[in-house]
Formats: sequence, structure tokens, C-alpha cells
Amino acid sequence: MKGVIFNVLEELVIETAGMAAWNSILNKTGSDGIYTSGESYSDDELFALVGEICIALDMPAEKVVGIFGEYLFDQLDARHPDFTANASDLKSFLISVDTVIHGEVLKLYTNPNLPRFEYQDKGEKQLTMLYRSPRKLCILAEGLVRGAAKRFGNEVSIEHPVCMHNGADHCQLDVSIA
Ligand code: ZN
Repeated sequence: MKGVIFNVLEELVIETAGMAAWNSILNKTGSDGIYTSGESYSDDELFALVGEICIALDMPAEKVVGIFGEYLFDQLDARHPDFTANASDLKSFLISVDTVIHGEVLKLYTNPNLPRFEYQDKGEKQLTMLYRSPRKLCILAEGLVRGAAKRFGNEVSIEHPVCMHNGADHCQLDVSIA
């Protein structure tokens, strides 16, 4: 995972639980806490941090990762506002993620190991996103979609009927836009 993801995780923890909590989490994982946004750091380190955050905040991983996804969207949008500014609405933005946006991310970062999305257009207010990534961070993807919805002023509900955590080779996110 790129350092920028760690930077945003640090911001979230400091904002919600304070600097002392973040330092204690770093101590427990043995991380030095120095992350350069464009550098790659091990996924294991990220997952260890998330594990300690769950303990510190007394929240299940699914909840922490979902909240982090929403927060991550806001932070990435603040850093790269053109991505959403160029989309006319939430649905066209989501459809642009796999090609246009990830294409831009590839110019900004070397080897970002991005997930892949395929889309099934199920109607004006419906979009099915098929998520594939060896990291299986579908809950993070859900959080990012919720963050994007907030940015475009939409309410969304997300069904997740097929999941890599249940042995499937992809996750299916059925997004309903209100
Ligand atoms: Zn899933």
C-alpha cells in the first residue's frame, strides 16, 4: 500500500482518538510511523495498524475499514479535486474509476496495485460494481463509494451479495442511488 493511505489513516486516528492513541498504536505494531506518500509499505503493516486501531477504538474491523474508506475518499478528493470535478454525477464518476481515475493514479504513483472494477448498468439509479483485488478490501471500496456519494450529495445503499471473503473470485457491490 502507498504511504498516502498510511498518512490518511494517521490523520483519521489523530482526529478521532488523539496523538497519544496513534503513538500507542505505532508502539504496539513496532512501526516508526514515517510514511512518504508515493512510497510502498507492506500490506501486513497496514493490517497490523488496523488491528490495533480496532482494539483501541473497540470497534470491529469491518466498521473501522468502512469509516476509513469514507474518510479516505474525502482526503483523496481534497488532494486531487479534478477527479470529481470532471464527473457530471455520482454514477458517471463511479464508472470512471476503473479507467479514467485509476489511469491518472498510475501516472502519479509507481506500482500502486489498484483493484479492478467491472460495471453492470442496472438502471438509472442502479449500478453494480464487480470488485477484484488480492487484498480483498471490498469493505474499503464500500466506504469509498459512500464517501463519493456524500461528495455528490447522494444517499446510497449498497448490497454486497457476492464476496471474496465467502470464497467467490470477486465481490459484487449493488449500488442504489437515491
Ligand atoms: Zn466482498
